[in-house]
Amino acid sequence: MMDSIAIKINSLRKKLHDHNHHYYVLDCPLISDYEFDQLLNELIELEERYPEYYDLNSPSLRVGGAVTKNFKTVRHDFQMYSLDNSYDLDDLKEWENRLRKQLGRNEITYTCELKFDGASISITYENGELFRAVTRGDGVQGDDVTENVKTIPTVPLKLRGKVPQRFDIRGEIILPYKGFQAMNNERISRGEEPYMNPRNTASGSLKLQDSSLVAQRPLECYLYQAIASHPLYTTQWEGLQLAQSWGFHVPQHFIQADNLEEVLTFINHWDQNRKNLPYEIDGIVIKVNKIEDQIELGYTAKAPRWAMAYKFKADSVSTRLHSVDFQVGRTGAITPVANLEPVLLGGTVVKRASLHNADQIAKLDVRIGDIVQVEKGGEIIPKIIGVSISERPHDLTPLRYIDCCPSCGSLLQRIDGEAQHYCINTSGCSPQIVGRIQHFISRKAMDIEGLGAETIQLLHENNLVQDYSDLYRLTKDQLIPLERMAEKSSENIIRGVESSKQIPFERVLYGLGIRYVGQTVAKILAHHFKNSSSLSLATVEELVEVDEIGDRIARSVVDFFNNPHHQLILQRLEQFGVQLKLNESEQKSTLLSGKRFVISGVFPTISREELKSLIELNGGKIVSSISSKTSYVVAGDNMGPSKKNKAHALNIPLLTEQDFLLMIQ
Ligand code: AMP
Ligand code: ZN
Repeated sequence: MMDSIAIKINSLRKKLHDHNHHYYVLDCPLISDYEFDQLLNELIELEERYPEYYDLNSPSLRVGGAVTKNFKTVRHDFQMYSLDNSYDLDDLKEWENRLRKQLGRNEITYTCELKFDGASISITYENGELFRAVTRGDGVQGDDVTENVKTIPTVPLKLRGKVPQRFDIRGEIILPYKGFQAMNNERISRGEEPYMNPRNTASGSLKLQDSSLVAQRPLECYLYQAIASHPLYTTQWEGLQLAQSWGFHVPQHFIQADNLEEVLTFINHWDQNRKNLPYEIDGIVIKVNKIEDQIELGYTAKAPRWAMAYKFKADSVSTRLHSVDFQVGRTGAITPVANLEPVLLGGTVVKRASLHNADQIAKLDVRIGDIVQVEKGGEIIPKIIGVSISERPHDLTPLRYIDCCPSCGSLLQRIDGEAQHYCINTSGCSPQIVGRIQHFISRKAMDIEGLGAETIQLLHENNLVQDYSDLYRLTKDQLIPLERMAEKSSENIIRGVESSKQIPFERVLYGLGIRYVGQTVAKILAHHFKNSSSLSLATVEELVEVDEIGDRIARSVVDFFNNPHHQLILQRLEQFGVQLKLNESEQKSTLLSGKRFVISGVFPTISREELKSLIELNGGKIVSSISSKTSYVVAGDNMGPSKKNKAHALNIPLLTEQDFLLMIQ
């Protein structure tokens, strides 16, 4: 009896998976929507009656229902990178020159794909089934939004044919115009504010707690890149075909291009025709076609060297300038922000735009009341690019830049060679104080759970925090009486602060907010100086000796540590138990120090990423192309012949994976 039910359930699931595939991937449904719903309802009924046959990836999950209270943070198996941007043919030519140099060859083939404007997603499949879906986050770790992604019909829950045991596939979740419009019409009819644009609505949808709400949104997903620890295919083009054969919904419009001219033809075509697409794109992504070449080219800290986004020229529109606010950032930098008559631009309602700095304002001679030209660039906030003098009313007076800080009133300063004005009252100016603490708790720094930007504002208004070391003195009794706080949220904060004491030194150093010390520089400094006291004693001369540290960074570091106020804060952080030195396991060996390595090809047992970190952990340095300064080339399979020749010519020893592992033993 039971067995016949299991058989029935399984056969329904299989049928529904197949129909889904025909409908969404092949775009040729075999049955009507009505028949499909009938099958689905039959399945849902059976699953409710016989919960023992629960399946994590049943097609019934498309209707949602699971609720996620807190999205778990998950580390990506493979980092999710950003893309470098280009804006014209010259940028592309420059890129190609770099590729040619590094690959040692002139002919390079590409694929061109549409650049979807949505939310990027990484989906892991294990044994042919959807295992989890994670947002890009900071690229290293993101949020687990599996339950929500499972409701998107174009995301397969089970794959077809023979697939790798475990791999990730990358793609973009988008909201096509039509569905977005329908959602907005419904909101308007209910008297609610319409959503701003499809992109934000798509990424916001992924973070809804109730997955049945996500199921109601007409989201779609295009998947374009499968990755595992070993290459799964030999060209980008083949990868797309392969992914499609496994049941993925891949982009429809893409080409292989033999040269930049063909790339440009594709770009021009879509620049003119993108308005006819059912969804928003903001450019074209050009990728080096051969995976072997991609491996050879590798990544910078932020983006693959083998891919380039070509951004379409931004739309611009005219509107009236109502007023200008002056904002104070965490470094004290002043940014003038324009308040505009709201206007629709590229699908978004724009109300504010950046005016950059005093020079820019003077150059444009922009005045309150002017009709201004607004453009949406790559940045989040649009910018003002021009003023319509002919439409200017007679009585407008030139805009005066402020002399004093809008927040604390102190006289602003302008450092030689910098365009920005600064409020230098660092320890007494509220937005700076709050901004610094907000930076300290942010995800890439101390990542303190339970604390957000608004809470920091609230804590500061209530005189509970003046600098980030004060976070470590907070007590539950102080927090509970605050607005929007309760027993539970207060406990969360205290616990979050406590566990931040485990955050490694390099992230603490980044969190301190020293000017020009971003994540990468913080990492370099942490590993070179090993603890904050030796870093604080370093002179400008000693600092610039360190690889990749220039004069500007060095001076900023020295200034920071010379400030007695900062010394006091550091002392306190130390007393509270915050990590101000590398812990034992992070201490690098110096086995390979002074040695420069080039990695080429793929390796039998370890991935390139592992190899890289082994070199770095042992004090070696990785460089991208072979020169007379290279100490070794670690050579794997598919090493390009031109590289091999170059290594021979310069007499640089080639190491196999085995040789290398012996070397560091
Ligand atoms: P950006 O957000 O400007 O750094 O651009 C990088 C992002 O573009 C990636 O994280 C993807 O989410 C997105 N993207 C959209 N379409 C594509 C595509 N065809 N190939 C690669 N990335 C894409
Ligand atoms: Zn100020």
